Parts: sequence; structure tokens; C-alpha cells
Amino acid sequence: MKLSDTIATVLGAKEHNLVLHVAPDQSVYEAIEKMAEYGVGALLVISNGRLLGILSERDYARKVILMGHSSKETRVSQIMTTPVVYVAPENSVDECMAIMTRHRFRHLPVVRDDRVIGVVSIGDLVKWIIDGQAKTIQELEGYISGGYPR
Ligand code: AMP
Repeated sequence: MKLSDTIATVLGAKEHNLVLHVAPDQSVYEAIEKMAEYGVGALLVISNGRLLGILSERDYARKVILMGHSSKETRVSQIMTTPVVYVAPENSVDECMAIMTRHRFRHLPVVRDDRVIGVVSIGDLVKWIIDGQAKTIQELEGYISGGYPR
């Protein structure tokens, strides 16, 4: 669990690796319902297998609520962000953290051969790093208390 680990490894360790998505002509209300059902903050917008955009709670807050629009009347395609920034499974955890920090967003689709194979959130990456640190601390404690194999 290091910063140099690949995103493929992070995806492999995720309990549920779902590619949650909506269609561009669905209503924003339906999209928010799906986000709530699965406990996520963003959905990919996919049509005929093509990644068209991404919709996050921030788009809803800024482009629907603040503008006084109705989520049942607004289509996903009207407020989604496009083009989507994505990574390859070979990209490392620290490269993905750098991309998210630079662009100020919290979600990155992982694409292999033009197909989305997963999504990582900033939460997944922070968890990966914290778990790695906890493991290192445990090993060091074992070493200090003499339990480390000689
Ligand atoms: P987030 O922080 O991920 O909730 O998203 C903040 C803003 O960035 C929203 O407008 C999203 O639609 C957009 N966004 C999130 N992830 C991506 C991405 N991978 N590529 C392009 N835009 C994104």
C-alpha cells in the first residue's frame, strides 16, 4: 500500500468495483436518487458504451439548486462535465492524487482499451495511503518490541 502502487491494484482491493452510471437523457433527480442509493458522490454519463461526461453532487448544487432549476426538469446532459479526465490502470496512486489536486475534483474513471473498468475517488486513495501507513507502523512496533523476524 504505497504511493507507487498502480490504480489497478487499488481497484482490485475495492470491495465493490462498480461502474455506476446514468444516461445523458435521464433526469438529474434520477441521478441524485442513484447516488443516494449507492452512497456515492458522482456518476459517469455513458451512452452506447461511450463515456460522455461525469456528474457530481457539486454539479447539482451549483447548476441546479443555486440557479433555481428543477432536478426533475433538468437532464443530466445539461449539467454534466465534459470531457472527462481519466487514468489508465497503470497510473500510480500518487499520479492520480496529483491529477485530482490539480483539477480540484474527487473522482477519476479508470479506462482500459476504451472501456471504463472502474472509478477511484479521493476517499479510496486516502484510505489506501492510511492503510499502508498503519501497516508500516505495525511492522515498526513489532521490530521495536522484538517480534520482528531476525
Ligand atoms: P467532484 O469533486 O469529483 O465532486 O467534482 C467537482 C467538479 O469536477 C464537478 O463539476 C464534476 O463534474 C467535475 N469532475 C469530477 N471528476 C471529473 C473528472 N474525472 N473529469 C472531469 N471533470 C470531473
